[in-house]
Amino acid sequence: MRRKTKLIHGGISEDPATGAVSFPIYQVSTYKQEGVGGHKGFEYSRTGNPTRHALEELIKDIEGGTAGFAFGSGMAAITAVIMLFNSGDHVILTDDVYGGTYRVMTKVLNRFGIESTFVDTSNIENIKSQIRPNTKAIYLETPTNPLLKVTDIEAASRLAKEHNLLTIVDNTFSTPYWQNPIELGADIVLHSATKYIGGHSDVVAGLVVVNSDQLAQDLHFIQNSTGGVLGPQDSWLLIRGIKTLGIRMEETEANTKAIVEFLQGHPKVKKVYYPGLETHPNHDIAKKQARGFGGMVSFDVGSAEIADQVLSKIKYFTLAESLGAVESLISVPARMTHASIPADRRAELGISDGLIRISVGLEDVQDLIEDLTQALE
Ligand SMILES: *Cc1c(COP(=O)(O)O)cnc(C)c1O
Repeated sequence: MRRKTKLIHGGISEDPATGAVSFPIYQVSTYKQEGVGGHKGFEYSRTGNPTRHALEELIKDIEGGTAGFAFGSGMAAITAVIMLFNSGDHVILTDDVYGGTYRVMTKVLNRFGIESTFVDTSNIENIKSQIRPNTKAIYLETPTNPLLKVTDIEAASRLAKEHNLLTIVDNTFSTPYWQNPIELGADIVLHSATKYIGGHSDVVAGLVVVNSDQLAQDLHFIQNSTGGVLGPQDSWLLIRGIKTLGIRMEETEANTKAIVEFLQGHPKVKKVYYPGLETHPNHDIAKKQARGFGGMVSFDVGSAEIADQVLSKIKYFTLAESLGAVESLISVPARMTHASIPADRRAELGISDGLIRISVGLEDVQDLIEDLTQALE
């Protein structure tokens, strides 16, 4: 089955009980048992729910792993994955990971003795130099936010295997349509399905896929024990979103390419960050490991004043955090998503006050370009 077909026919694409072509929303908490323990595969919906199960089978198929898991948010998914480790274990993470990931590692999970080190993983040597006897995993986010740095997943996974570590990849920005970390050697891939997978700004969810039966068993134990599961209604919304993931990502790619070309030719734009540009420092790796470059672009207009002007004049780009929806979104990382990072650290990372991040949506690209033109005037 090819990729676009799998999005529609992968997993459990129809209800075996009724033949319903849209998998039903099993809005149910418990299941009748014919005798003690005599159930039909489901006993209580925290442990398993048919609609969630259909989604979990689908994401497993499209990421190419052995089992899938659906959680109530991306952060619940990430937290459950890190709970695979024990007090005293150490994880090496990408330095510009999603802010919530940084927060949960350094303000919550650290209290349970899980240690973390953040490095620029786009240089594999940086990871290597931080491996300690108690290191258990390499956690990558690629491409990153907002500077779209790319880590070589295959090289990082190889290094991890040499040292008996797990490789975990946050694949939110690329989506399983463009990038499949398990095929590149990763052990666990996870998503904030709130973004492209849901795709319509109407659901908060997280998904995980693992590559072994042991990890599947361990993660199911954690999912069932800690209970951060996704409800049936939201599971259904994700199944529905995944059906159009392919065409949405293809269209996003085309729109983004046109916008990147426009931004590059604009005199007020000092710098454009996009892995699809040949001048991007990690372009070759991005091209090797992903089939598309995605819809996230950052560009520097030189000052907070000009950034504010753009934000006040822009019409079709909604000023909002988040990404990956049908609507184009715009944000200023230094004062929004990355405001909690100290100014000097932001400067070090290259997140300047004039940096604008856009998530390109599915509007007519001519409207988007005209809108950016008038906003930059
Ligand atoms: C949004 C996001 C998360 C967190 O997901 P939620 O669904 O908001 O909990 C994690 N990683 C990345 C890359 C994200 O963009």
